Amino acid sequence: MLRPTKGKTPRRPAPRKPYNNQKDPVGVYCRVRPLGCDDEECCIEVIHNTTIQLHAPDGLKANRNGEYKETQYSFKKVFGIKTTQIELFEDVAKPLVDDVIHGKNGLLFTYGVTGSGKTYTMTGSAGLGGLLPRSLDMIFNSVGPYQAKRFVFKPDDKNGMEVQNQVDALLERQKRDSQQNVPKTPSSRQRLDPEFADMIRPEEACKADGVDEDSSYSVFVSYIEIYNNYIYDLLEETPVDPLKAKPPQSKILREDQNHNMYVAGCTEVEVKSTDEAFDVFWKGQKKRRIANTQLNRESSRSHSVFIIKLAQAPLDADGDNVLQDKNQVTVSQLCLVDLAGSERTSRTRAEGSRLREAGNINQSLMTLRTCMEVLRENQMCGTSKMVPYRDSKVTHFFKNYFDGEGKVRMIVCVNPKADDYEETLLVMRFAEMTQEVEVARPVDRPICGFAPGRRQRNMAFKDELSRRLEERGGPVDTEIPAALNQLLQSFPPLPPCEISDPTDDQTLPRLIEALERRHRMRQSMVEEYNKTANLLKSMLQEMDGSLMNKENYIHQQQGKLGEKDKCIQDQKSEIDRLEKKAKMLEYKIDILQKTTNIYEEDKRTLQHELESRDHKLVREQSEKKRMEARMQGMVYDTKLQWEKECERRVNAKQLEMQNKLWVKDEKLKQLKAIVTECKTDRPDNPPTRPPEKPMRPSREKDRLRSASPSPVPTGAPVRPHHRRSHSAGNERWVDHKPVTNVDLDTVMQPNLPNSIKVSTPSEKALSKADKYVLTHQEVASDGEIQTKLIKGEVFKTRSGGQAVQFTDIETLKQENPTAPSRKRRSSENKPPQGDGNTQGGWTDVENRCSVAVEMRAGSNLGPGYQHHGCQKRRKP
Ligand code: ADP
Ligand code: MG
Repeated sequence: MLRPTKGKTPRRPAPRKPYNNQKDPVGVYCRVRPLGCDDEECCIEVIHNTTIQLHAPDGLKANRNGEYKETQYSFKKVFGIKTTQIELFEDVAKPLVDDVIHGKNGLLFTYGVTGSGKTYTMTGSAGLGGLLPRSLDMIFNSVGPYQAKRFVFKPDDKNGMEVQNQVDALLERQKRDSQQNVPKTPSSRQRLDPEFADMIRPEEACKADGVDEDSSYSVFVSYIEIYNNYIYDLLEETPVDPLKAKPPQSKILREDQNHNMYVAGCTEVEVKSTDEAFDVFWKGQKKRRIANTQLNRESSRSHSVFIIKLAQAPLDADGDNVLQDKNQVTVSQLCLVDLAGSERTSRTRAEGSRLREAGNINQSLMTLRTCMEVLRENQMCGTSKMVPYRDSKVTHFFKNYFDGEGKVRMIVCVNPKADDYEETLLVMRFAEMTQEVEVARPVDRPICGFAPGRRQRNMAFKDELSRRLEERGGPVDTEIPAALNQLLQSFPPLPPCEISDPTDDQTLPRLIEALERRHRMRQSMVEEYNKTANLLKSMLQEMDGSLMNKENYIHQQQGKLGEKDKCIQDQKSEIDRLEKKAKMLEYKIDILQKTTNIYEEDKRTLQHELESRDHKLVREQSEKKRMEARMQGMVYDTKLQWEKECERRVNAKQLEMQNKLWVKDEKLKQLKAIVTECKTDRPDNPPTRPPEKPMRPSREKDRLRSASPSPVPTGAPVRPHHRRSHSAGNERWVDHKPVTNVDLDTVMQPNLPNSIKVSTPSEKALSKADKYVLTHQEVASDGEIQTKLIKGEVFKTRSGGQAVQFTDIETLKQENPTAPSRKRRSSENKPPQGDGNTQGGWTDVENRCSVAVEMRAGSNLGPGYQHHGCQKRRKP
C-alpha cells in the first residue's frame, strides 16, 4: 500500500478571510413560558407559529390612549408554553452547533425580563436540559471519535490555536495526570451534586452530519460573567487556601490581528466529553453563585457567557497525526449568552413595591439596543455611522459577530403575566428592530488539500498490520512490514554456507554466486519497483489532479448552490416581512374601518339633528311671519284708531279756532257798528240808518252751524230742512239761564212767553222747542257787566238727535250816568281790554251750552243782528 508523500501533494493557499457580501437577518425567536399560577392575568396570546399578540391588561387600558390595545409581533418562530427543550434546541441551536462543527461561528443569546425563562432556556434543569448542555452533547456526539489527544491543540492566549508536537503533548498529559488525583473523566452517572443530575435523556442525543473525519478536533470551554461592565473569569483557578483568597479580578478585552475580540487571560479548559464539559460549567456556576452572595450582587443584572471553542486541523498525509501547521487549524466558537434581565426596575430588592430606578437601567442592554439601531439604520439608509460597540463590554465582545463573523440568533423570552406587560412591550420593540439587522454570512472553511479518507486508510492499514502479525504469532516486530517478509520468502534458498574443510573452495564461490544472483534479482526488482512506483506516482498525481478539479468543481457548485440558497432565503425573509407588514396593515385597516364606522354613525346623528333643527327653524319662521302679520294688523288698527282720534281732535280744535275767529270778527263788527252809531247821534249828522249789511239768512245759516249737544251724535250737521214753525207767534223757546248768572235788576228783560226755562240744556227740552236762547253775562271793556242773548234755531238731526244753529246775538248793557262817560271813539281807538275774558266768555258759553260751533276757516262774515235794540236797552 502506498501512501502519498508529505509535501508533494498540491496544497491550497493558506486560509485568508474571504470577502462575503451575502447577508442574513439576525434570527429572532420568541419563547413564551407558562404562567406561574393559573389565576394570573395573561397578556400574551400565541396566534400563529410566527406571531404573538399582546393585549394591555385591564388596569392599563384606561391611560394608554393613542396606542393599540392589541399589538402583534412576528418572529422567525414562536414557541408556545408547550414547547419542549429538545424542540427548541432542534430549531434554534442545532443549526448553530452544526455550523461550529463545520468551522463557522455562532452567537446565541436569550433576552427578556427577569423571570421570563432565559436561564431555563439556556441552562434548563435536571432532565430538562437547556440549549447549553444540548449543544455540548451534540458536539461530543459528533466529533467525539475524532478528537485529538489532550494538549495537542493549545490555545495561544491570543484567540488562536497552536498544534503541539506529540512529545510536548505527551509531557503535558503526564504532568496533568500527576497533578490531578481526580479521575480524568468523572463517571457521568455518579455525580456528587444531585443538582448536576443528567440533563439530557439518552434518546434525545443529537449528532451533526458530514463531520470531516480527516480532521482532528478538540473542544475548549470558557465561562465568563459580565457584571457592571466588568468581565470576570468563572473558570479561573483560585488558591485553595481561603485566607489567601482575594476578590475576583476583572479581565480585559483585546483584539487579535484579525480584529476579533477575546478576553485576555481567560481560562480555556479543554474538555473531552459532555460530562466533563458539564462539570466545568457547574463549577463556574457555583463560583458565580458564591461570588454573587459574597459581594451581594444581583444575579439578574449580570450577563453570563459560555463559550464553546472547537479547534480542528487536518490529519497529516498518513492520516495518523494532526498536521503540524498552525495555518491549517480552524477555530470556531459558539457563544451562549444569558443576558441580564431587560427590565428597568430592580426586582429583587424592591419586591412588592417595585420601585422604578431610572438610573438602574442596565447600561449594556441600552448599548446593545443602540448598536442594533445604528446597524439597522446603516443598512437601511446606506449610511456608515459608527456603531458604539465599545460603549459596553457585551457589545464590544460580540462586535465581530455583527460584522460578519458568524450567525446571530436571539431568543426573546416572555412571561405572559400582565404585571410584565409594559416591560414585555419594550422587549418586543427591541426584538422587532433586531430582526431587521442583517449580518454577513460566514464563509465556508477552506479545504486543506489532502486527499480525503486518510483517517480511514490509516486505520485500515493499522488493522491489517496487526491482524497479519497476529496470524504469524510469536513476537511481533511491528517495525517489519508484512509485505517485505513475503518478498524475502519468495527468493530461492541460499546454498549451504558451512565450511568444514579449509581447502573447500566451492562453498564460498557458490555462496557468492547465489548472493550475486540475488543482488541482480534485487536490483532488477528495485528497478521494476521504481518503474512501477513512478508509474503509480504519476497515475496517483493524475488522479489527484482530476480529483482536485472535481473538488473544485463541486466547490464552485456548492458556492452557486449557496448563492441560490441565499436568494431563496432572502425571498423567504422578504415574504415574511411583507406578510408581517400586511398583517399589521390589515389590523390598521380594521381599526380605521371601526373609526370610520363611528364617524359615520356620528355623521348620521348629526344630520338627523340638523334636519330636526331645520324643521324647527322653518316652523319658527312661519310662526314669526304669522306674528308679524298679526302685529302689522294690530299696528294698522291702532294707527287707524289714532288717525281717527287725531282727525276728531283736529276737527274739534279747528272748530274751536274758527269759532274764536268768528267771535273776534263779531266783536270787530260790533265795534264798527258802535262807531257808526256815534256818528249818527251827532246833531250835524242826521241819523241815518247805517248801511245794513244785507241779511242773507241762507248764507248765515250756512255759516253758523251748530253742533248738537252731547247726546247728539257727532258728524255732519243736518241741514234745517224743516222748521217747527215759521210764524213768530207760535215759536217755543228754550230759555237757557246758567245758575251762575247775576240778577242785575234790569228793567228790560227779554219776554219769551211759553218758554221752557232751563239752567242746563237737555235733549228733552230741545226736542220740545224750535228756538234756543242763552243768557250770557260777561264783563265788558269798560268794566260793566254786559249781558248777551245768543239765539239759535233748534233742528232735528237725521239720526234723531237735536242740534242748535246759532243765528243771532243781542247784547244788553247798563251804564252808570255818574261814572265818567266813555266815548265809544276812545274805546274804538283802544283795543278792548280783557279780550281774553271775552274769549273766555265765549269758551264759557260754549262749555255751558255744550255746543260745538262750526265755522268755515278764513270767513270774515259773521251773522247779522239787530244792534239798534242795544241802544234802547241801555240803562239811563
Ligand atoms: P430568567 O432567567 O429570565 O430570570 P428563569 O429561567 O430563572 O428566568 O425562570 C424563572 C422561573 O420560571 C424558573 O423557576 C423556571 O423554572 C420557570 N420557567 C421559565 N420558563 C419556563 C418554561 N418554559 N416552562 C416551565 N417553567 C419555566
Ligand atoms: Mg436568569
